[in-house]
Amino acid sequence: MKKVALIVAGGKGERMNADTPKQFLLLNGTPILIHTLKQFSHFDKIVLVLPELQFQYWQELCNSYNFMQEHTLVSGGVTRFHSVKNGLDAIDENTIIAIHDGVRPIISNSLINDLLTKTKSKIGVIPIVPIKDTIRKIDGEKSVLVDRSNLYKVQTPQCFLSTDIKNAYTQDFSDTFTDDASVFEGNGRKIKTILGEEKNIKITTKEDMNIASILIL
Ligand code: C5P
Repeated sequence: MKKVALIVAGGKGERMNADTPKQFLLLNGTPILIHTLKQFSHFDKIVLVLPELQFQYWQELCNSYNFMQEHTLVSGGVTRFHSVKNGLDAIDENTIIAIHDGVRPIISNSLINDLLTKTKSKIGVIPIVPIKDTIRKIDGEKSVLVDRSNLYKVQTPQCFLSTDIKNAYTQDFSDTFTDDASVFEGNGRKIKTILGEEKNIKITTKEDMNIASILIL
C-alpha cells in the first residue's frame, strides 16, 4: 500500500508572536517545515497544507534552500480539522496516511515505521508519551492534584488507512476534535497507542525553538 504523509501547517501560529509564521522560522539554519518534510522523504507522496497566502513565500523558501522534494500544496482551513479535511481530499484511496504537525520537525524513522506497521483496517495508531510533571486542575480559586500515573501527551504522526480516515472526516466539526484520533473515535473507530518520543516536540513558543535547536543536533 502506498504511504502518504499529510503535513499540516495551516495555522497562523499566533502564540509565537513572531512576524514570520512559526513553521518558517529557522531551526539551526533551515526552516522548520523543511526539516519536517525531509523526515518523510521515503514516502510515496507528501501533501502539505499551508494557508494559501503563504504559498508564494514557501515556494521562495524552497528555492532559497534548494529544497527539491516533490510535494502537493493544499490550502488550510479555519481549524486544524478543516486543514486535515482539505489535505485528505488530495489523497487517493487505498493508501496508508500519516498525519503530522508541520511544527514537529524531530521525528525518527523508526517511530514512523512502527506506527505504519501497526495500522490496520478500522484501527488508527498514535504516539503518546507519559506526563512527568505533577499536574493540578484549577477551578476558580481552588486547585486539586490530578493523578498523573495514567496521563499521557498525544503526539503525531497519527496513522490510518485512507478509507477509514476519509470517512471519519465526513463528520460535522466539533470543538472536541483537537487531533485526528479524536475525529476517528468520534466515528466509532478504535485507537491504538504506542510509546512516542520525547524529542518529538510541537514547536509553539520561542522557548520550544531553543529546546528544539539542541534536540535536533
Ligand atoms: O493549533 P495547534 O497547535 O493544535 O496546531 C497543530 C498543527 O495544526 C500545526 O502544525 C498547525 O499549523 C496546524 N493547523 C492547521 N490549520 C489550522 C490550525 C492549525 O493546519 N487552521
